[in-house]
Amino acid sequence: MLTICETVESVREQVREWRQRNQNVVFVPTMGNLHEGHLRLVDEARQHGDRVVVSIFVNPSQFAEGEDFTRYPRTRDRDIELLTERVADMVFIPEISQMYTVPNLTVVEVNDLSGQLCGAFRPGHFGGVATVVCKLFNIVQPDTAIFGEKDYQQLILIKTMVSDLMMSVKIIGVPTVRSDDGLALSSRNQYLTDNQRKSAHKLYEVLKETRDLLKDTNNIEYAQLEQQQYNSLKQHGFKPDYFAIRDSETLQPPAADNRQQQLVILVAAWLGQTRLIDNLKV
Ligand code: AMP
Repeated sequence: MLTICETVESVREQVREWRQRNQNVVFVPTMGNLHEGHLRLVDEARQHGDRVVVSIFVNPSQFAEGEDFTRYPRTRDRDIELLTERVADMVFIPEISQMYTVPNLTVVEVNDLSGQLCGAFRPGHFGGVATVVCKLFNIVQPDTAIFGEKDYQQLILIKTMVSDLMMSVKIIGVPTVRSDDGLALSSRNQYLTDNQRKSAHKLYEVLKETRDLLKDTNNIEYAQLEQQQYNSLKQHGFKPDYFAIRDSETLQPPAADNRQQQLVILVAAWLGQTRLIDNLKV
């Protein structure tokens, strides 16, 4: 049965009870408007412990000025139905006042990582993410937490925070779930017009093309390839924020001799009013 909790205290009480029975807890943080990508995380969570807790919280502090906080889709009843079908044990749906007491002066900042790639275009975003995930971890106290590789920089940021702050939670990443044409599932896809939706899959096509070029070419000039693919996205009607080839663990640019490094290609690009992100490991 799915327990719906709206207060920090009720989550703590339930988790305490589970712990007394020696059950461990796996946690899936989300902003709701659940789709198959989120639900795959819930399925993965089931594999890692006795109890699955999902949170649904559209976190204001991770939206930069002028972003889509107010119009972000909120579908509470449908989300609860889906989590009942997918057999989560608890959903935590707090009001903002539960998560942010007044005054709320403490923030978590993962230096360096926060300012690059998406962080360079969304000021304050990753500080907001790190802070809210830290709060949620302190409330739920999970043994394991599950995140999507769809938000690759976020996954690396959370792993770094957990390691730096010595948090006792294991972080697991789940591969991106895509629609049939390759577009990564995202709550923001519903902002796309029909025509934009038809061409949105080209983002993934360009990532795959880049991966193939990286595999097939020796002595590659990364900056040149990044620029070439950035331009290619523009020709497909996107307005890219960035197109970057990075080390898949540190998100630093690849070293000159990088045969030992696993790389990841990351992109953020606007299609009309919608900002899409995607990535692909090489
Ligand atoms: P969000 O609700 O967008 O904050 O996402 C909550 C979690 O679901 C994050 O860990 C995301 O990376 C993950 N997620 C979102 N979309 C997908 C997807 N298409 N495939 C896999 N995980 C996803």
